[in-house]
Amino acid sequence: MERLQKVIAQAGIASRRKAEQLIQEGKVTVNGKTITELGTKVGVNDEVEVEGVPIERERKVYYLFYKPRGIISAVTDDKGRKTVTDFFPGVEERIFPVGRLDYDTSGLLLLTNDGEFANLMTHPRYEMDKTYIVKTEGIVQRHMLKRLMTGIKLEDGKTAPAKVKELSIDKKKNRSLIEITIHEGRNRQVRRMFEAIGHPVQKLRRDRFAHLTLQGLNAGEYRELTAHEVKQLR
Ligand code: URA
Repeated sequence: MERLQKVIAQAGIASRRKAEQLIQEGKVTVNGKTITELGTKVGVNDEVEVEGVPIERERKVYYLFYKPRGIISAVTDDKGRKTVTDFFPGVEERIFPVGRLDYDTSGLLLLTNDGEFANLMTHPRYEMDKTYIVKTEGIVQRHMLKRLMTGIKLEDGKTAPAKVKELSIDKKKNRSLIEITIHEGRNRQVRRMFEAIGHPVQKLRRDRFAHLTLQGLNAGEYRELTAHEVKQLR
């Protein structure tokens, strides 16, 4: 049995707070009966409707996927390009990516059918650390690494402090390999940060999300998260 507001939030219809509001406003029914009391528990076979629309009650699933480059982080693409869910042909639950990686970015992407979990993972307040490996154009000087660490002014505001580590430099190929950890998740943030210091990104891979890594996976492969891993993330 689970609390009604949690069941609604997990269906991805509303945040938990909004779900509570919907219940209090009398917009939620369980087996046809309007329920206004918060904390009412419902079982898997109870029919829950929000504003007359039944909600889907699937088993919640959580996957860690190694996204290859050249794949869209979406469920469908109107231009018919390959999307991340194409890698999960046997999975019947209606999974979607948690946040997104750019088309040309590879690396760790979570997928789930748990809307509440996805909201938590992408909410700025939870500040999930994300670590990227960046191959740059040109060799990045130390003072530029400092700028990345302290914060870079972008059109949508200054970036929060980041952890930055130079992994190697390749003088022949004129490029640096840098590890950067950020907790914000703005659109194309890492690419824009490096563009701002005059070193566009050549290659970008996300290696870590919170405590999770890509260990044991090749590009295009996935594994299910353990219950313990899901619990640790929440
Ligand atoms: N930052 C980017 O610029 N691209 C991504 O895909 C992820 C983070």
